[in-house]
Amino acid sequence: MSDVDPGAEIIRLRPGAAIYEISTDELQISFPNYTATFTSPDVTNAVRAILAALDGGAPRASVIETAAAATGFSPDVIDYLVDSLLGSNCLYVGSEEQIGTPLREFQAYIGDADADFEERLANARCVLVQPAGDRGGIAEALAELEVKVDVIEATPGESSSPPLDALREALASATVVGCWNVPYRSPFARTVNEIAIQHPVPVLFGTCEGIVGRVGPFVLPGNTACLECLNDRLLSLAGGPELRAYRAYRLRNEEIVPPPWPSHPLFVRAVAALFGVELLNVALRRPSVTSGGFVEYRLGDAGAERHPVLRVPGCPMCRPQSSKRLAWDVRFQAPAVKGSA
Ligand SMILES: [Zn+2]
Repeated sequence: MSDVDPGAEIIRLRPGAAIYEISTDELQISFPNYTATFTSPDVTNAVRAILAALDGGAPRASVIETAAAATGFSPDVIDYLVDSLLGSNCLYVGSEEQIGTPLREFQAYIGDADADFEERLANARCVLVQPAGDRGGIAEALAELEVKVDVIEATPGESSSPPLDALREALASATVVGCWNVPYRSPFARTVNEIAIQHPVPVLFGTCEGIVGRVGPFVLPGNTACLECLNDRLLSLAGGPELRAYRAYRLRNEEIVPPPWPSHPLFVRAVAALFGVELLNVALRRPSVTSGGFVEYRLGDAGAERHPVLRVPGCPMCRPQSSKRLAWDVRFQAPAVKGSA
């Protein structure tokens, strides 16, 4: 057999598959969530030959040739069965260099290992804004998965201008922004929200504030509620003292990067990992559970809860300001027409 072209398409058994030869006329390929069963001696023989020919991954033509030679079936029959195996997600199509990385193994497992995935991964450009010294491991984890990430570290207590200027510059080539562990009510987070909306580039927020971890909102400029909409909704339940504290907090932190709120260090890492999963998800343009809402995790509670966030009418960040309405008593005079008198 000739050497395989390094970029050529090959077919492989989907990761996680377990093969059970039940009898001479029944063969099962089983996954955690479903099972494909092949019956009749001819079909099971042919499927067994195809699986043997795959040998960890091989070009489709050579699989068909090898399996047809081993069984004596027509290549058309083998080709049909390869289609059946692909259609039932027992096999997937990839290329030689896609094999072996954990992310691609997972994508193949969930049935999303097509050429489009490679293109989406190659085109994704994340900008990650996060507190200096509190990396949470997100940037490193994404870089290990071959996601391009520009990290902007904001030093708590120092001027917010340098990281915000760096963000404006980085947005030129970004497809998505992640803003991690910056207090949601801070002027710094508000400005990240504003810059992303103005550019416009989608932005995902995530944070740990005490015993509460949040992933989202994912803000699609012009389409979904923004971070200020969320702050407004949360504050609508607040009393006078909390509102005063909120305003004082904003004034005090107007020009500086605020420190993250205290939280359990391992809880921060756990929520950071979930934030990283969601950031990769939106960077790959996959459906998101955080657009128009956020997922909340509470330390000590089981499970997570999704909260929808509706856009706030007149939100100064995400609603274009409407023109002033005409006064009710405006009068328009009919023009005088010559010769009508
Ligand atoms: Zn808004």
